[in-house]
Amino acid sequence: MLHTHPEPSPTMPHHEIPLSRPDISDLEVSMVSEVLRSGRLALGPMAEKFEKLVAARAGCTHGIAVSSGTSGLHLIMRALEIGPGDEVITTPFSFIASSNCILYAGATPVFVDICPKTLNMDPAQVERAIGPRTRAILAVETFGNPAYMDAYASIAARHELPLIEDSCEALATRMAGRPCGSFGRVGVFGFYPNKQITTGEGGMIVTDDERLADLCRSMRNQGRAVGHDLANRPQSSTVGAWLFHQRLGYNYRMPEINAALGVAQMRRLDDILAQRRRVAELYMKRLMGNSRLILPTIGPETEMSWFVFVVRLATGYTSQERDRIIAGMRNHDVGAADYFPCIHLQPFYREQFGFEPGMFPIAEAVSQRTIALPFSSNMSEREVEIACATLEVMIERENLRRG
Ligand SMILES: *Cc1c(COP(=O)(O)O)cnc(C)c1O
Repeated sequence: MLHTHPEPSPTMPHHEIPLSRPDISDLEVSMVSEVLRSGRLALGPMAEKFEKLVAARAGCTHGIAVSSGTSGLHLIMRALEIGPGDEVITTPFSFIASSNCILYAGATPVFVDICPKTLNMDPAQVERAIGPRTRAILAVETFGNPAYMDAYASIAARHELPLIEDSCEALATRMAGRPCGSFGRVGVFGFYPNKQITTGEGGMIVTDDERLADLCRSMRNQGRAVGHDLANRPQSSTVGAWLFHQRLGYNYRMPEINAALGVAQMRRLDDILAQRRRVAELYMKRLMGNSRLILPTIGPETEMSWFVFVVRLATGYTSQERDRIIAGMRNHDVGAADYFPCIHLQPFYREQFGFEPGMFPIAEAVSQRTIALPFSSNMSEREVEIACATLEVMIERENLRRG
């Protein structure tokens, strides 16, 4: 993030029209209160309820609630036994967590460039990047767009590699009727407050693979035995499974308060998604004729669950101009952000792996010209109009500067 326009977090409502705003109703307040009154604050029925709701929506058998999308990705790396010397193919144009989990495992991210239209990895380059050390393909539905997920799945199957689906931006998106989260061997959702639905902090692993699910359940809970292991634990631990640790685990559990928030949000999901679609359509209609902007392209078979509304300045605008446009919008109380700076150009990636500008030219060119606009289910038509008008004024100001 550039220090010229600091933004502590996309959900900090310090702009009149914030970049993002969670949709919390009385249902969420009463369900969270209920948990507080019950006295059961961890390892209770709410997390299980939330797991069932999300897994069903993703068309998967198992849901494993975790403390964040990032911790879910970390567990997946561990469960697939990815480690030092292994390579994982992934995108440089994403939120950094999709790649950091590869570093947590001590493995090496192998980036491939994106398609300029969909902003997802180019499937042909994914296939070319597969080598003897490749252990997985980690695909991201960038901004919720599921393009090529079926292609990655068939490449992964052909090479007998697991496809890990980072669906943190794509809860309830469908392509040809198939929900995101179900294309890979395993998928993960995130529930930070700027996502389609929130639990405050939280995540959910989804899979049909029972072994993988049990491993994740065990490792999110300090490596305690679950499923079949529970029956087979040694006699010495007959007093209980609580202090019997089968493997190295973590505390990545989701608290009951957060799960209750998630259950309430899932009950309202269709309504929330319809409202987000309404706002996306308002933006589309309002900005369609503007030749200085490239709008999101959604495939014909896609039922989009809108995560953000990101536009791109036309070719020719520089990253400095884009940054001044964002700063100008923020100065006028309209939230905006540079989603996403390329991962390979973050300082510690450059240092560790020697990445340089120019290695992934499409991702770099795209990331220099994107602008995320204010986006939430509860935005009014007037707020959309103000955001668009401010954006246009700021672009016009840059055009004037050029003379
Ligand atoms: C939000 C997000 C995550 C997970 O973020 P958390 O804040 O850890 O829940 C992971 N990958 C992508 C692509 C994301 O957008």
